[in-house]
Amino acid sequence: MEAARAANRRSRPRRPARYSALALLRYGLSGRDWPRTWPEQPQRGRYDVVIVGGGVHGLAAAYYLAVNHGITDVAVLDKGYIGGGGSGRSTAILRSNYLTPEGVRFYDRSMQLYRTLAADLDYNVMFSRRGHLTLAHNDSSLRTMRWRAEVNQLEGVNSEVIGPDEIKRLVPFLDTSAHPRYPILGALYHPPGGIIRHDAVVWGYARAAAAQGVAIHQDTEVTGIDVADGRVRGVRTNRGGIATPVVLNATAGWSTLVAAMTGVRLPIQTFPLQAAVTEPVRPFLHAVVVSGSLHVYVSQTDRGELVFGASVDPFAAYSTRGTLEFAEGLATHVIELMPGLSKMRLLRQWSGLCDMTPDFSPIMGRTEVDGFYVDVGWGTYGFKAGPVSGEAMAQCIATGRTPEIIEAFGLSRFGVGELVGEKGAAAVGHLYGGH
Ligand SMILES: Cc1cc2nc3c(=O)[nH]c(=O)nc-3n(C[C@H](O)[C@H](O)[C@H](O)COP(=O)(O)OP(=O)(O)OC[C@H]3O[C@@H](n4cnc5c(N)ncnc54)[C@H](O)[C@@H]3O)c2cc1C
Repeated sequence: MEAARAANRRSRPRRPARYSALALLRYGLSGRDWPRTWPEQPQRGRYDVVIVGGGVHGLAAAYYLAVNHGITDVAVLDKGYIGGGGSGRSTAILRSNYLTPEGVRFYDRSMQLYRTLAADLDYNVMFSRRGHLTLAHNDSSLRTMRWRAEVNQLEGVNSEVIGPDEIKRLVPFLDTSAHPRYPILGALYHPPGGIIRHDAVVWGYARAAAAQGVAIHQDTEVTGIDVADGRVRGVRTNRGGIATPVVLNATAGWSTLVAAMTGVRLPIQTFPLQAAVTEPVRPFLHAVVVSGSLHVYVSQTDRGELVFGASVDPFAAYSTRGTLEFAEGLATHVIELMPGLSKMRLLRQWSGLCDMTPDFSPIMGRTEVDGFYVDVGWGTYGFKAGPVSGEAMAQCIATGRTPEIIEAFGLSRFGVGELVGEKGAAAVGHLYGGH
């Protein structure tokens, strides 16, 4: 890959059109159309790297392969449209207040990358730092919050446990009295947490990667992966075959199906996760509020809508249909937290697929098939990990070595029983059986 890399560096394509006030004025006055965000390109018969999945993970990996390692002969294939999987359905909450040191370090690197992403990509990704509160309604969650705060602080991440008075000051509409069925005893407060515009992140990475020469092929489904003598030779798609020595599986909810094409088995089950949004109202909720016990979380967008999320549906499925049970349960729990919201109307609900692992941590890196890499197991928490995963997977593919920051997340950990237990820090409690 070294020769290809050197040639690519020499012939690195143009930078994308710069977005600026001046450019806006120029295009506005001249009446010219803006150039396409990324060009349509004919699909070629060979690429150095094929990335299956055009979500935040696949596109970030393509971007960092190009800008950090000069590897631009890369195709990102998506069976639908980019961002059409979990990435475009995410509630886009960012935080790094996890439970294990490995998790905290990993997600914190992502937060660092997110902070400068708008400038790096020249694309407004609307990162909004809000502060993130995980409520504790009983002694055992309070104990876990304290544990998380300790680990966070040791890793240099800003987190602390606060009491009901401080919570009330940050979120006046929360019912912090002793009356609710699940009174609020305290919270893990994580000031750097926030929200971002998920589509913008995906489009920004796609645009910046394409400007480096990465090919993005939508409506291109991988239907098979050719493996001979223990190594990857190419992929088959609904639009023809592609020869390649490297395939990255970044297909989240579909990842077990794609891995099975090479014979690699992943300890992952796919569950639907639903979310909902209300009509917009005047801004009143600055922080992101999560209640693990009530299986609900809420944030307010810059446009004023309240965005709600919950735990995954309690059965494994590939269905993305919304259910009435979800809307009813959500409303009950939200009103218990904030009784003042009882008159608000839900506008929409939707659902996406989540690739859940037994320890609520991802699976990243090489597999037993040479040239077949995985960046999967993102469950309900993978959007925030897009940048660091892309950076680490690009390094892994370019150097053939596993970067330290993802060493703990290898597939082999399940064989030797070295799990990275993050269940206590997954956004909300998950009720499904089996894990
Ligand atoms: C409702 C909801 C809310 C969430 N909220 C949050 C949150 O607040 N914070 C957070 O961090 N995470 C959240 N998540 C999780 C997060 O969205 C995902 O973990 C993350 O987006 C996964 O990104 P990805 O790029 O790995 O996969 P995806 O974005 O799912 O992309 C995978 C792509 O692979 C494509 N694909 C599948 N099979 C094939 C094939 N055979 N050939 C070609 N292409 C294929 C699909 O079309 C899809 O576009 C949420 C998820 C959901 C569903």
